[in-house]
Amino acid sequence: MARQFFVGGNFKMNGTKDSVTKIIDNLNSAELPTSVEVVIAPPAPYLALAVAENKQPTIAVSSQNVFDKASGAYTGEISPAQVLDLGAKWTLTGHSERRTIIKESDEFIADKTKFALESGLSVILCIGETLEERKAGITLDVCARQLDAVSKIVSDWSNIVVAYEPVWAIGTGLAATPQDAQDTHKGIRDHLVKTIGAEQAAAVRILYGGSVNGKNAPEFKDKADVDGFLVGGASLKPEFVDIIKSRL
Ligand code: PGA
Repeated sequence: MARQFFVGGNFKMNGTKDSVTKIIDNLNSAELPTSVEVVIAPPAPYLALAVAENKQPTIAVSSQNVFDKASGAYTGEISPAQVLDLGAKWTLTGHSERRTIIKESDEFIADKTKFALESGLSVILCIGETLEERKAGITLDVCARQLDAVSKIVSDWSNIVVAYEPVWAIGTGLAATPQDAQDTHKGIRDHLVKTIGAEQAAAVRILYGGSVNGKNAPEFKDKADVDGFLVGGASLKPEFVDIIKSRL
């Protein structure tokens, strides 16, 4: 089954009105392939700006996080309805920086994923192992555990994109090799066959994330289960366009 190539840009807690506008202006002036789905995730204060500035029909805007409630006394949180109200269509959930720094649990991430989907957002669900877990040889067990928390309470995965981001590769300049990524993606897909069924597992896009740049992105081209990328640092730079075009 053909899965549409997908490139996400996670700006993390970076930028200003000015720099976010410049990044989007650069994307607006690029000739982007219509065959690639692109999602950019600026910091929450710039979601409305990003939606207003973006002129590319193939680019949608994403939140980096949401809460699992619609509204109420949850100081500092952002609801899926508010993200949608600003014109954004996606959210990330489970990014490793939220798992490790903010200490979000698998269950909380699953709750947020479920609530975001029910609210009408599509979700980029991030998973991945730490260096210690990799050294211990439990990469796929960790990914399975993180996925299972979601599949236990979410049966329709048609609006979920999975991003496999090994923690040791994020922001380190040390990307997984294309073969390494392919092997893990295949393991993730095989696991999904068991939990959400063969049909959904074949359709779900699995992105690789961790030190992807304009130079190494084309090296993943012939990897059957690498359906795109989630890009951090390089999404702030003009080379993000090269990554979007890396499958042409
Ligand atoms: P990086 O980050 O591309 O800067 O390694 C990826 C991510 O955290 O999504």
